[in-house]
Amino acid sequence: MRALIVGRFQPFHLGHLEIIKSILKQSGSIIIGIGSAQYSHTLNDPFTAGERHLMISSSLEAEKIYDFYLVPIEDVNSNPLWVAHVESLTPKFTKVYTNNPLVKRLFAEKHYDVHSLTLLNRESWSGTRIRDKMLNGENWRSDVPPQVAAVIDEIDGVNRLRDLSQSDRE
Ligand code: NAP
Repeated sequence: MRALIVGRFQPFHLGHLEIIKSILKQSGSIIIGIGSAQYSHTLNDPFTAGERHLMISSSLEAEKIYDFYLVPIEDVNSNPLWVAHVESLTPKFTKVYTNNPLVKRLFAEKHYDVHSLTLLNRESWSGTRIRDKMLNGENWRSDVPPQVAAVIDEIDGVNRLRDLSQSDRE
């Protein structure tokens, strides 16, 4: 049985990793939808779908987790069509894990088995908090798998965010 989780993963952090491990205890394999795949180079969505793909795949493989499918999913400008859009891009799945009320409702209306997730250590393991730490020169590396830090270093991600915050101010 396959399960689906969708998130923006800006960036992928230790909270996401723990959630994926716990879903895999209950499901044979997991489809990880990389949401808002068309966005990058903004303060809320700094990383491209390809960069997020590499962050997630390298982190899971380092944990010897291989039973996952990574699928970039662009947004569509019609919520009623979004579930069909997701279905057209992914292998079949029966369960959906999300805390987003809109995502819950859209999948429940299509009769999927929808489950909520327990959010862990949200003080630190939060994409927004991690992006803020990068901008403020605080330690963000302990909140992400080492493979994510390596990708962010390789693409000069912290300076990308800082440049974006400058152009936002201008
Ligand atoms: P999100 O923007 O990634 O997450 C929303 C909030 O939930 C963030 O604070 C996020 O924290 C938190 N969160 C997400 N997954 C989590 C997890 N596993 N553990 C702890 N916290 C988690 O949005 P989302 O609801 O997860 O993903 C929905 C995606 O579907 C988005 O890309 C959205 O654009 C897309 N969507 C599109 C349409 C459409 O195109 N019409 C309709 C519905 C949804 P973090 O930042 O720490 O992850």
